[in-house]
Amino acid sequence: MPIKTAFPTDPADSELSWQDSALCAQTGPEFFFPEPGSSTREAKRLCGACDMRSVCLEYALTHDERFGVWGGLSEKERYELRRASR
Ligand code: SF4
Repeated sequence: MPIKTAFPTDPADSELSWQDSALCAQTGPEFFFPEPGSSTREAKRLCGACDMRSVCLEYALTHDERFGVWGGLSEKERYELRRASR
């Protein structure tokens, strides 16, 4: 059965096996990829309770994911984190 995650990635990729335990797999992608200007509060609340948060954030940073909330951070927050760590 295909994994139903909020991520627009290939679930057959073994690098993405952590998504099996992703809390967002139980929700729709709308919280994690909100329309521009929409709130990310609900996505961040779910991320705060997700056991995969750190690996999710690491994946997003490693793969330069530009859109959506990953590991509890918005695209702007990930951009600022990358910039601060240079
Ligand atoms: S940290 Fe958030 S975006 Fe990442 S897997 Fe968990 S719920 Fe999904």
